[in-house]
Amino acid sequence: MKISWKAIWNYKCPRCKEGNMYKKPFEFSKPLNMHRRCPNCNLDFEPEPGFYFGALMISYAVSSWMLLIPALTLVFYFDWSVNGAMLFTLAFAAISYLKVLRISRAIYLHFSMRYDKSLENSQNSASNYDKSLF
Ligand SMILES: [Zn+2]
Repeated sequence: MKISWKAIWNYKCPRCKEGNMYKKPFEFSKPLNMHRRCPNCNLDFEPEPGFYFGALMISYAVSSWMLLIPALTLVFYFDWSVNGAMLFTLAFAAISYLKVLRISRAIYLHFSMRYDKSLENSQNSASNYDKSLF
């Protein structure tokens, strides 16, 4: 399966790339309000309890590089003061917080669900995942 960055950016299902991962409309009080299964192809978006704990590491990596590189560039290339760069970084972190939070789950799901069409009817397919085992 090919990873689609466009589907990740738009929070689409890793299999069909059409169904939305998150429920619409967006609510600030529930930024991670996801569909249990893909509304289009029925792919299970939470194959096991606590599945998205791994997305914390994605979120950490994305946000740290996304904030570190601009801060270092401002200080060492544009000769900003450290305090100025820190203020810019804090503002950028506040603005990008929800996007990073949501896209981390999308990245994690897309890299976890390596969908193989040949497994479509097998027991190991994510779509045939049996929740009753847990
Ligand atoms: Zn789908």
